[in-house]
Amino acid sequence: MNADLQTSDPDVFAIINRESQRQRDNIELIASANFTSRAVLEATGSILTNKVAEGYPGRRYFSGCENIDELENLAIERAKQLFAAAYANLEPYTGSQANQAVYLTVLKRGDRILGMDLGHGGHLSHGAKFTMTGKYYDCHFYHVDPDTERLDYDRIEAKAKEIRPQLIIAGASAYPRIIDFQRFREIADAVGAFLLADMAHICGLVATGLHPSPIPHAHFVTTSTQKTLRGPRSGMILLGKHSAPDFARKIDSAVFPGVQGAVHVHAIAAKAVMLKEAMSGSFAASQLQTLENTRILAEDLMARGFRLVSGGTDNHLMLLDLRDKGITGKEAEDRLASVRITVNKNMLPYDSQKATVCSGIRVGTAAITTRGFGSEEMHCIADLIDKMLSGEPTVSTITKVREKVSRLCRQHPHIDSIYSEEGAKFTLESQYQLQS
Ligand SMILES: *Cc1c(COP(=O)(O)O)cnc(C)c1O
Repeated sequence: MNADLQTSDPDVFAIINRESQRQRDNIELIASANFTSRAVLEATGSILTNKVAEGYPGRRYFSGCENIDELENLAIERAKQLFAAAYANLEPYTGSQANQAVYLTVLKRGDRILGMDLGHGGHLSHGAKFTMTGKYYDCHFYHVDPDTERLDYDRIEAKAKEIRPQLIIAGASAYPRIIDFQRFREIADAVGAFLLADMAHICGLVATGLHPSPIPHAHFVTTSTQKTLRGPRSGMILLGKHSAPDFARKIDSAVFPGVQGAVHVHAIAAKAVMLKEAMSGSFAASQLQTLENTRILAEDLMARGFRLVSGGTDNHLMLLDLRDKGITGKEAEDRLASVRITVNKNMLPYDSQKATVCSGIRVGTAAITTRGFGSEEMHCIADLIDKMLSGEPTVSTITKVREKVSRLCRQHPHIDSIYSEEGAKFTLESQYQLQS
């Protein structure tokens, strides 16, 4: 009973060890991936997982919640402060559950949702037909403009007027440009719909002022916490001042008992730690470096003849169109995996391939930036991707690329490099000045 994992369960221990090694030895370019700090990891693996708590601080169904109440209140206050929100619910297990709670709050079965098409960058939880959301609600989708491959707000407005949805969702998993949440709110107002802004991917950028915040505009804001925000695998719902009084209680009961059971107390603690970290100068510096790294990688790849969807990127990710290279997204994913570069195949707007094949890949720099990769490493990674995807690589090329990947990973062995003195010299204030 008191033995450690290695002794009590060598099988699981060995698997975790191998995964730890894989994380160390691979260049992680999946745009939704990141590495938490040790402190977040420690909170996630703490004894808090033993505590059963249902309900909210001061309104629990079990006794012995005094410490948990203090913890959850602390997390809520930090979330409100970081995002200038009037209300925060920290209980959603993931971003998908956060979205479900919003649907339960404002929709009746059969009501209409208008969200971004999955193949154009939207997310499964926005009403894909084989999901619970897709089955319970009448889901419709908007698309990017076929020429610019960007959101065309006038067309979205026209679509909204045609569909007359009860809820419009702004937010994406594979969209490399800034999202205009204010314009989305105007569209929602024009058709009497609620606006949900799902900032799962860009949350870290929003937290540091590097992407405009949806909080002042949307009726509801949801997010995952494990992506650019670099927290545990979890979720969160935020409300701005304009909508908080009306919806706070409704969201509370939609999360619990609406779609969830008892609180994941360990995840609340990890999110509290994450929120404190996100207020630091080093976090802001790291988010800024993520943008810089993405820009450099994108420019280098374009210079090597890769076409990027929408011709570039404003955020932490890009979509590579591989049709000119005569290779599918699936083939590219496998080829890069063979040299320990991890990406995901991704549908391109108006893609003619199946979802299991795809014509592109999605590439993001959040995780490697956390690891301390900078501009020099970006030039190098662009070169490696080019070597692997522009024509069939020779055996000797593959060997050389593997060696280079291994060297890069050894040079940045530890994720705690993000909390170095170097990062700390940036302050939040200086980030905001850079923006304006
Ligand atoms: C990742 C993501 C989510 C939620 O995913 P979870 O795995 O449930 O946290 C929701 N919306 C968008 C846009 C996402 O990218």
